[in-house]
Amino acid sequence: MACRGCGSAELPTKGEIERIAEEIAASRETAVGVRPIDEETRSRRILTCAACEALAMEILCAHCGCFIAARALDPLRKCPHPAGNRWAFGDETPAEESAAG
Ligand code: SF4
Repeated sequence: MACRGCGSAELPTKGEIERIAEEIAASRETAVGVRPIDEETRSRRILTCAACEALAMEILCAHCGCFIAARALDPLRKCPHPAGNRWAFGDETPAEESAAG
């Protein structure tokens, strides 16, 4: 599976993905004032992905093509599973559910 964004078939390391996630989160905070999600919620999201049949190559979501480590850090993102948001833990803000993505 190649990256939908750049077409690269070369997978980044987990350290590179973490750096990318932090850069995305920092730019989001700068651009629209959205702070990264708390670490506990991010961990819950990543654990949910680890048990999901849509997890590809241990790092990508097959439904959106995102690196889950990056997507899970963004409070404005939800899980794109066609059967419903698997990151809905019942204690998240309404803003997350209504946001794009
Ligand atoms: S569908 Fe949701 S739970 Fe499954 S890998 Fe994608 S983001 Fe994670």
